[in-house]
Amino acid sequence: MSESFLLSQRVAIVGGGPGGYEAALAAAQLGAEVTLVERVGIGGSAVITDVVPSKSLIATADAAVAIAQASDLGVQLFARDDRGNPLRPEVAINLAAVNHRLLTLARQQSEDMHQALLDAGVHIISGHGRLEGRNAMVVSTAPGGTDFDRIEADTIVISVGASPRELPAAKPDGERVLTWTQLYNMKSLPEHLIIVGSGVTGAEFAGAYMNLGAKVTLVSSRDRVLPGEDADAAAVLEDVFTRGGMNVMSRSRADKVENTGDGVSVTLSDGTVLTGSHCLMAVGSVPNTAGLGLEDAGVQLDATGHIQVNAVSRTSVPNIYAAGDCTTFYPLASVASMQGRVAIFHAFGDSVIPIDKRRITSNIFTAPEIATVGWQERDVAAGDADGVVLKLPLAANPRAKMMGVTDGFVKIIAQRASGVVIGGVVVAPKASELILPIAIAVDRRLTVDQMSRTFAVYPSLTGSIMDAMRGLHLVERAGHEHD
Ligand SMILES: Cc1cc2nc3c(=O)[nH]c(=O)nc-3n(C[C@H](O)[C@H](O)[C@H](O)COP(=O)(O)OP(=O)(O)OC[C@H]3O[C@@H](n4cnc5c(N)ncnc54)[C@H](O)[C@@H]3O)c2cc1C
Repeated sequence: MSESFLLSQRVAIVGGGPGGYEAALAAAQLGAEVTLVERVGIGGSAVITDVVPSKSLIATADAAVAIAQASDLGVQLFARDDRGNPLRPEVAINLAAVNHRLLTLARQQSEDMHQALLDAGVHIISGHGRLEGRNAMVVSTAPGGTDFDRIEADTIVISVGASPRELPAAKPDGERVLTWTQLYNMKSLPEHLIIVGSGVTGAEFAGAYMNLGAKVTLVSSRDRVLPGEDADAAAVLEDVFTRGGMNVMSRSRADKVENTGDGVSVTLSDGTVLTGSHCLMAVGSVPNTAGLGLEDAGVQLDATGHIQVNAVSRTSVPNIYAAGDCTTFYPLASVASMQGRVAIFHAFGDSVIPIDKRRITSNIFTAPEIATVGWQERDVAAGDADGVVLKLPLAANPRAKMMGVTDGFVKIIAQRASGVVIGGVVVAPKASELILPIAIAVDRRLTVDQMSRTFAVYPSLTGSIMDAMRGLHLVERAGHEHD
């Protein structure tokens, strides 16, 4: 690629979340003239309302759990009264301080990312962007507001993200009926939080608020929490939730949610009325693709308004790419970033590896966490993957015993004939950190025997990963069944 070709590239990006941010950095690195239009703040929903605040809240919940469980390991906590008598300890959460901390972290992270873009030479415009044809973007003060800028570009990246889905009979009011973006306005722990929706977002907040000390009811329209995830993992979590005192209501659909002034009432489709202090609506997201001029430019959307992209982030229009939650790919910050980078590499003819959905690692930040990669047991059961599955409970792991960890497991899925690791699940504290060796095995197509030769520290939770790899050794020789 000649330098003059690089210098002639003008890249316009709309949306400064992980997708747009990574695309901007990659384009700047390759020498392009880059303009990024963002209407709220760099970092996007990921940093300002979604990932950073929720994971910071969960860090506080984890700390509360660690204190509560410390007595199992012989740690005693107590205060003394004036006469020196021990008082029963109480763990209390100052939610106003917690929320202040997490919103400060989010703001700082957004500012750091803004500065990183400026340092890379990216031109940032604050405003609402929309396409004008296939080679220009117009910036206005708001949707339908006054236009104040226009950018011509050779390559365009759309990374406008998504917003919480709202149901007409359950309109969030920001006071008691809340979306996840409004949770952090609460000044004190909700007395009784009803969460509608038991997908990843609903489950993460249900676990976090339960562990912070709130009474939680989780309303799930399906048979169990986390429909679509590994069934064994979901069962562990549901058990932990129930043991922790959460009211998990399965096969229950919320028809109406109302703010009653001093609380909320949630009417289920069977007529049951639940009452609580607050209600979190976690019923999915809708892509922010309306009114962007996409259809006029010829960019194809699916029936739900997501932009159709291929594995190198290209839309139906050759010079227009899209990344992140507004696309038909997985709604994960890590995926959005990768899509953003891949879009630019492809547009510039740099070396690019198409994104393989089967190699995406994801994590659910509950306690225990649930991390997943690759093909799953249900794919084997459905005959879509020819694999063998081995699951080892963490309760048998020496380090887990020392740490007092009883819930969780490691599950490895290997190709029957070759022993190549094709998937895995880890349910454990910090599973998000433990899944990486399995993800590397899946990505690099390593066999269970190659993995088995790697030393794990003794004692360690990763020891169970290696034990499972060793347990699958026979796969290569005889296709032995391990389930
Ligand atoms: C509660 C919650 C927790 C999550 N936790 C995790 C997690 O732990 N790990 C993980 O990987 N993912 C997580 N996700 C998913 C993650 O937040 C998204 O996948 C990620 O934000 C997608 O990035 P994006 O760049 O597509 O969009 P966003 O982060 O949504 O950014 C899009 C940006 O575009 C801007 N924008 C939109 N329209 C316009 C316009 N017309 N003009 C200008 N700017 C515009 C928006 O203001 C926004 O800043 C979580 C999601 C939720 C809801």
